[in-house]
Amino acid sequence: MSEALAPAKAPAKAATPRRATESGVPDNTQFLHPLMLKNYGKWKYHDRPRPGVLHHVALSGDELWTVKAGTQRQMDVWTIRKLCDIIDKFGEGQVRFTIRSNVEIGVSKWEKVEPLINALESAGFPVGGTGNSVSMIAHTQGWLHCDIPGTDASGAVKALMDDLIVEFKREEMPNRVHLSTSCCEINCGGQADIAIIVQHTKPPKINHDLVANVCERPAVVARCPVAAIRPALVNGKPSLEVDEKKCMCCGACYPPCPPMQINDPEHTKLAIWVGGKNSNARGKPTFMKMVASGLPNNPPRWPEVSEIVIRILRVYKEDARSWERMSDWIERIGWPRFFEKTGLTFTKYLIDDWRGARVSLNASTHIRF
Ligand code: SF4
Ligand code: SF4
Repeated sequence: MSEALAPAKAPAKAATPRRATESGVPDNTQFLHPLMLKNYGKWKYHDRPRPGVLHHVALSGDELWTVKAGTQRQMDVWTIRKLCDIIDKFGEGQVRFTIRSNVEIGVSKWEKVEPLINALESAGFPVGGTGNSVSMIAHTQGWLHCDIPGTDASGAVKALMDDLIVEFKREEMPNRVHLSTSCCEINCGGQADIAIIVQHTKPPKINHDLVANVCERPAVVARCPVAAIRPALVNGKPSLEVDEKKCMCCGACYPPCPPMQINDPEHTKLAIWVGGKNSNARGKPTFMKMVASGLPNNPPRWPEVSEIVIRILRVYKEDARSWERMSDWIERIGWPRFFEKTGLTFTKYLIDDWRGARVSLNASTHIRF
């Protein structure tokens, strides 16, 4: 039979198109311990037999112990392997990372808890972070991964957590304490009881030779929340200019246009904000307020920042009532007493909760934060 007369092959079955999930978090059920999954939403009670360990008892009678340990977040492959080996040997092959870079390892027997804790601690993963402790600091990417940071984030976290490790392993604060760091003023980070945030103090310096080659000028103009950037011709070349009276040094122009150089070894500082809260447990979510500014951006240990954070925590621990979050405590004693007790210097630039800021910080018709 000639090839032309041969019966046609059955057409290949069309492949099922893969549907990419491009937003949102992955389905968390794949990371849950089988007992957690089995009893999801059917719990009788839970308690904490010791700091760093959660104990869940289900209506079915199942019991699950979860050991929580801190990690350094930005882990090399050898550290991850070490952690996985511990989980395989002393846990039950399951681990879940929390948003604060802790790991939670579930085991179905109380007898497994102590050996797991010993293995984690001897490998350098401190066990704690539950209840009224200082939890691991949520930090942004810093110098390792991001292209716009004004400071490092993991470095400041390491330096600070070296000092706060005892409070991570105990549950002795009035309520839980969440800390965070942010290495630019505009993007990731979020609300926290105490947050360390980059603070630029000078408008960007423009490298006019590069603007025309690198930046889309209309996009950069639209990006400024206070309309401080204008197109301009400089030395006959299209460039940009900044109205420095309007500029609030937010750094939003720098990511789309790196020639708008705002990071500066001397003028990029750090600020400390307090009283933020994401949850609505026992009270509404709250926004942070700035209480210390102009701190030196001083790697590798940022001692000036650590000193103030620890000072605020010490006063909060001594003065707050049981179950008062940082924001509740400040609300009760008032801002003047907060500054008095912590010994921080108040200036008119701090704790801005001016309502008009909604208009002035969000005035562009092109971009919304
Ligand atoms: S806070 Fe800013 S600089 Fe830091 S990782 Fe996020 S986007 Fe990058
Ligand atoms: S985006 Fe921010 S830093 Fe850039 S010019 Fe506008 S206010 Fe200044």
